[in-house]
Amino acid sequence: MIYFDNASSTKPDKEALDIFYENSIEKFFNPNSIFIAGVRNFNDIRRFKDKILKDFKLDSSYEVIFNSGATESNNLMILGYARKNKNRGNRIITTKVEHDSVLFVFKQLEKEGFDVVYLDINQNGEVDLDQFNNVINDKTILVSIMGVNNEVGFALNIDEISKIVRKFPKCVLHSDCAQTLGKYPFNYSSCDAFTISAHKIYGIKGIGALIKRKKINLEPIFYGGGQENGLRSGTQDFPAIASFSYSINKVFADFNKNYKHAEQLKNHLIDGLSKNEEVILHLYEKSTPYVLNFSLKTKKASVVVEALSNLNIFVSSVSACNSKKEEPSHVLLALNKSLKEAHNSIRLSFSKDNTIEECDLFLVEFNRIIERIRG
Ligand code: PMP
Repeated sequence: MIYFDNASSTKPDKEALDIFYENSIEKFFNPNSIFIAGVRNFNDIRRFKDKILKDFKLDSSYEVIFNSGATESNNLMILGYARKNKNRGNRIITTKVEHDSVLFVFKQLEKEGFDVVYLDINQNGEVDLDQFNNVINDKTILVSIMGVNNEVGFALNIDEISKIVRKFPKCVLHSDCAQTLGKYPFNYSSCDAFTISAHKIYGIKGIGALIKRKKINLEPIFYGGGQENGLRSGTQDFPAIASFSYSINKVFADFNKNYKHAEQLKNHLIDGLSKNEEVILHLYEKSTPYVLNFSLKTKKASVVVEALSNLNIFVSSVSACNSKKEEPSHVLLALNKSLKEAHNSIRLSFSKDNTIEECDLFLVEFNRIIERIRG
């Protein structure tokens, strides 16, 4: 198998699974129980949170809210903040290239009466700062802009956006960092809140977090036992939290080594693919080496993805969550690509375990398939 769909989900590290398993056997107690084993788990969760904040180089003005993953974190932050703070202002801002777990939340808030602005993305894969300066105003309470785009891999200009948001004291900046963590250098303290997910960083599935400034008040989505400072009721998944804490630490520790490796893979594939006349590469100067996106000029991407899949080579067309819909990529359309390009894009996304040999094999089979199939 050649697996180039790591932006959808990564294979968990053995250590992440071992930690989950050991804690499931030995520390299965409810962290909210008042006997000593429960209290120990509760205190350990606190320690994990402190360690995570340290890994992100954040001080104690931030807090970690564990939940099921990036979709839930985005929902909690965006719905929770807008609903809680609607008396302070009505405008909320995002971009046209966000993941559906952000875009559809903004669509919902539009229905609830919020004035939503969807920012364009310029030729560099960044927010146009003139446009941003024009739309942000004293009524703006929330800006949510992803760190790295999941389909094309470009990095947005969060540092510059953050400087502008700071001029509006009522407004907070949230970033969906599901594809940023471990994949691109990022100054997390430039945001008031951000979203992360374990299964994107060689961790286990079903655990993620919203990391936010403590002073940010949110309306919870779930009501119940009041766990996670009242923001995520439900028994904390202690083994998953222990495992996630390991994965976060590891992804920071290995960042430079893995980043260089991903650069080699991506550059090698760019060299190979640029020789094929069927391929239109979508390259951006500021982007993660873990994602490579291209369109096909005349062939159908879904047919090529299926032909590769029959050879046990797994890649994705559009984003994995969308790929069953056969809709054009909203990201490529926002980048001013043609409808045809937006319909026929392929995303390769890498992990620390992929090799140059796999890239070569992929190129051989890809070129063969392109020759063989009709347009
Ligand atoms: N945001 C981005 C940018 C993503 O790439 C994904 C995963 N495709 C998500 C959110 C949703 O992540 P999760 O599966 O953890 O809910």
